Amino acid sequence: MGRLSKKKSDLGISLDEVGESGYRLSCSKSKEWIRDVVRDVGNSDFTFLDDITIQVDVFRMGKDFSARGVIATAFTLPCVRCLEDFAFSLKAQFHYTLCPSDSGEFLPEVEVRRADLDVVYYEGTYFDLVPLLVEQIIVTMPTHPLCGQTCKGICPQCGENLNKRLCPCSRENEKISAFEILKNFPLKQKS
Ligand SMILES: [Zn+2]
Ligand SMILES: [Zn+2]
Repeated sequence: MGRLSKKKSDLGISLDEVGESGYRLSCSKSKEWIRDVVRDVGNSDFTFLDDITIQVDVFRMGKDFSARGVIATAFTLPCVRCLEDFAFSLKAQFHYTLCPSDSGEFLPEVEVRRADLDVVYYEGTYFDLVPLLVEQIIVTMPTHPLCGQTCKGICPQCGENLNKRLCPCSRENEKISAFEILKNFPLKQKS
């Protein structure tokens, strides 16, 4: 997980406004906004196609809060096999418990602890949603993005995208492998 920005963002919840019946934040942010937010953590090989929609329900649980929500957007990213950009629609559901930073072991450098990813700490009364958003995008992002399960990739010899056309070298390889199969084909023994 990347470093989280410490500056106050324009997407957050005033916790003192969360009453007993809870609080719902429902909004959308432009693709330019989300692109800038994600650029801060150093991911730049994808392009947002859609605005991001955000819905979060926050409930008070004593000093803690429960934040349950969903984000949705779409972006393009390069396929690891053929290197062509393809569209990926992202929908992430999450559930975090917000604890005051003076409770328990607060690690000042790490707002989201690895061991329990669903616990985050808040300071004061403003809870910034941007780090959660960035984290959800990162964890939902495919680690091995493929434009399709049947993507043929690129030719290691000439670099041709084999989804578009067969290059001369792959036709050559096909001929060789067909020959190899024929050569190794067991001849019927005469009985
Ligand atoms: Zn591909
Ligand atoms: Zn080739």
